[in-house]
Amino acid sequence: PSDGEVVTRFAPSPTGFLHIGGARTALFNWLYARGRGGKFLLRIEDTDRARSTPEATEAIFAGLRWLGLDWDGEAVSQAAGAERHAEVAQEMLRRGAAYKCFSTQDEIAAFREAAKAEGRSTLFESPWRDADPATHPDAPYAIRVKAPRDGETVTEDAVQGRVTVRNDQLDDMIVLRSDGTPTYMLAVVVDDHDMCVTHVIRGDDHLNNAARQRLVYDAMDWPVPVFAHIPLIHGEDGKKLSKRHGALGVEEYRDMGYPAVAMRNYLARLGWSHGDDEVFTDAQAQEWFDLSGIGRAPARLDFKKLGH
Ligand code: GLU
Repeated sequence: PSDGEVVTRFAPSPTGFLHIGGARTALFNWLYARGRGGKFLLRIEDTDRARSTPEATEAIFAGLRWLGLDWDGEAVSQAAGAERHAEVAQEMLRRGAAYKCFSTQDEIAAFREAAKAEGRSTLFESPWRDADPATHPDAPYAIRVKAPRDGETVTEDAVQGRVTVRNDQLDDMIVLRSDGTPTYMLAVVVDDHDMCVTHVIRGDDHLNNAARQRLVYDAMDWPVPVFAHIPLIHGEDGKKLSKRHGALGVEEYRDMGYPAVAMRNYLARLGWSHGDDEVFTDAQAQEWFDLSGIGRAPARLDFKKLGH
């Protein structure tokens, strides 16, 4: 992208319809990019082959189109990038930022059992981290990234503020499995880097992943994007949003005859505010929307306001 251009993305996993939480995440990314003359990209995170369906991908496209959240370029399939992801894992090896781990599932399970019995942390510590390559067996291996052993990883989050994770809570996570497939944690970072994403705006259920994803950025010497983790949406009772609270699929509102503009306005106000303004035009929303206006407390969904 050109210097200083804002690039955001919406990266849903196609395992179901576009629900209110996802639609709000998409809207925030769209508003942020559109209000700054930037790009809004769409990536379908379809690496979980068992749970991803083409119907869900279509439902996500349809929901975004109905809401008027147009994305730039073609939607990207994460699964299609598997070869590139594996290449990056190999590059991490070459750089000495990652290592080949030959530990078997049984050995890892035994390590955990022993650690538990001794009251130690059950995070796996691979004996292969510092092994001499001359001692490597001719056997399948996973590639693990070397997490720092001391200190802490600090992330400045545009919504959550300073987030500190003790490094002894980070294990040497696997980036490439022994069957040669990349892990989700690797794929996300490689894709965000390759798509030149500058701002990662997503649900705060991914907050802990940010510290782990930092390991990949650091291993590759890639610039870290701005992270903005938005609090999840809760029902009126303060509980995590679920079907029993009411309609959750965006298409259900479309089918009830909701105007898309009202839905956009409603979603924008879930967790974001601009003074006392309740109703605004698209142009105003784009102009006003900023990460600093996103609250840290979970947004409450008021279904009565939605009229059902
Ligand atoms: N695919 C993830 C999800 O649907 C989002 C990952 C991300 O935004 O980094 O929850």
